[in-house]
Amino acid sequence: MKVFKFGGASVKDYGAVQNLGRILDMYSSSPLLVVISAMGKMTNALELLLNLVLKGQKEDAKQKLSEISSFHLTIAFELFEDKNHPVFEIIRNYIQALEDFCNQDEFLPYDIQYDSIVCYGELLSTAIVSQYLNDTSRTNVFMDARKLIETDNTWRNARIFWDETTEKIRTDVLPILSKGNSIVTQGFIGADKNGNSTTLGREGSDFSAAIFAFAIDADDVTIWKDVPGVLNADPKYYPNAVKLGEISYEEAVELAYYGATIIHPKTIKPLENKQIPLYVKSFINPKTPGSVIQNPKDDYQSTPSYIFKINQVLISISPRDFSFIAEDNLKEIFEVFGKYGLRIHLMQNSAVSFSVVTDDTEGRTLAAIEELMKQYRVRYNTGLMLTTIRHYNQETIAKVLQCRTILLEQRSRVTVQFVTAESSIRDF
Ligand code: ASP
Ligand code: MG
Repeated sequence: MKVFKFGGASVKDYGAVQNLGRILDMYSSSPLLVVISAMGKMTNALELLLNLVLKGQKEDAKQKLSEISSFHLTIAFELFEDKNHPVFEIIRNYIQALEDFCNQDEFLPYDIQYDSIVCYGELLSTAIVSQYLNDTSRTNVFMDARKLIETDNTWRNARIFWDETTEKIRTDVLPILSKGNSIVTQGFIGADKNGNSTTLGREGSDFSAAIFAFAIDADDVTIWKDVPGVLNADPKYYPNAVKLGEISYEEAVELAYYGATIIHPKTIKPLENKQIPLYVKSFINPKTPGSVIQNPKDDYQSTPSYIFKINQVLISISPRDFSFIAEDNLKEIFEVFGKYGLRIHLMQNSAVSFSVVTDDTEGRTLAAIEELMKQYRVRYNTGLMLTTIRHYNQETIAKVLQCRTILLEQRSRVTVQFVTAESSIRDF
């Protein structure tokens, strides 16, 4: 049994959906569990719709909804010759639910409402793809992930109830796959125990694929992307980026942690726990090998990887009376970052000061700084870049740094990180 994950770019138009069908044909001998994201940029579009409705901008919301509707209908018209095909009724029903939302006067708290609306992106996309595959003799069973993935109700970033989820997936999914049938389901979405829709955090479909794979003890997972595999840097900034053929689970987790955006950070743990290999392959060139994340073979060689984060803030915090930074100060400081949901990317302390690097997030970073200022002397610089190099050497450091000014540097055996005064990424 194999789990495949197709992201938004791999279903962004009708040609992309047809291409997905051809990729499945290459694997017609194994039962597939296919996890799919919202088409193209539809999650962003639904977020926008939600915000317009909640701000009372009814006309703009109607306009947005009509764009969302025609985006999906256009794809369906291209894929289905029969204009009375049941898929159109399904699309209309989902759009109707969104329209009802637009006409409401009372709303749920923001995050709950978010999950109840944004999940339509995945529902629409999987309904269209599943029907298209059935029509082109790639029979599959459509399943609603909200009936399989049970979460708590941390809306927009829901935690998985692993026991319940594993049980449901094993009961409902395994019999279908064991008969040799394939399944199409949604990434990114689940439901709480009362059946309210929840979402797993933006870009969470990779994680969904890992959850399904864990529950069914899949042979492997493949994430189909528009890049040839996991690269050692973002090719937008580093034209010489190379593909990493084999990567250990540990290396993959570290790369994701430092901000490489190739795979959602939560994806690796469930796969490592069951030793399920994760392939990252190109949906444009599906026959090329791509990358594999698994326990490394003996001759494993680590290639240097580069990760850049822009829009960073360096905050230095000192007690006002020149006393040492003590454990209870650190506790207080961490609580402030926790309260504003700010992740600390780097920290360093001296006798009388503690420095952290975090994202400059609108409305939150400054609020945290202001709160810290009540107690401490705080200095901060904005518009910075954090560069991380894994498996560095002098040459890689020299190449990346060129003549930048370093504000803070930290090295371990494997990883070096620099904070530099530069707001945008340059080629190197
Ligand atoms: N559609 C969701 C998002 O764009 C989930 C995903 O793509 O993984 O965040
Ligand atoms: Mg997406």
